[in-house]
Amino acid sequence: MAGSAAVKMSAEEIEAEIQRVELETKTLALERAKEENEQWKARKAEKAKRNAVTQSDLAADRRKEHAKTVGCRHRQGGFQDSFPKKGKGDPCISAHKMPFGELRLQCNRCQLEVYEPNPSQRNVKGYRDKHGRTWDEQKEVYDKMLEFWEEGGLHMSEGPQFTALTAEGIPFRPALV
Ligand SMILES: [Zn+2]
Repeated sequence: MAGSAAVKMSAEEIEAEIQRVELETKTLALERAKEENEQWKARKAEKAKRNAVTQSDLAADRRKEHAKTVGCRHRQGGFQDSFPKKGKGDPCISAHKMPFGELRLQCNRCQLEVYEPNPSQRNVKGYRDKHGRTWDEQKEVYDKMLEFWEEGGLHMSEGPQFTALTAEGIPFRPALV
């Protein structure tokens, strides 16, 4: 029965070969997975680094913007290039009504800008407006600017207005940030 012994040997050899190839495949797959993980980690680290740079650039921009507004009385008059801007005339705040009804107020001298805070965002964790203000800080600046705008009496500009509705048809103001 040499033939069947040879077949049996071959079957064992084939089995061994299968196991060897399977092991090799698994080893290579493991290496590939490790390599991909390393590349993914490197990409993630690179992205985090880029984000940190962007955040610090934004923070620097905000500081620069803020510095220009400190000491401004948000009033007309005084010297054009004086700092702080000591105007004693009427307030120079302009107002623009945004598409969903909130006001955007801006000082025409120092460019201090604030949006009417959205009540629905008051309790949003970590909320910051585009200038880095918390909701309460935004509200404080907004209220002050609103008073100035009302006192100054400048016209309000507005573009097309829209009404956002919930699925139930109830009007709501969508979050801007
Ligand atoms: Zn100002």
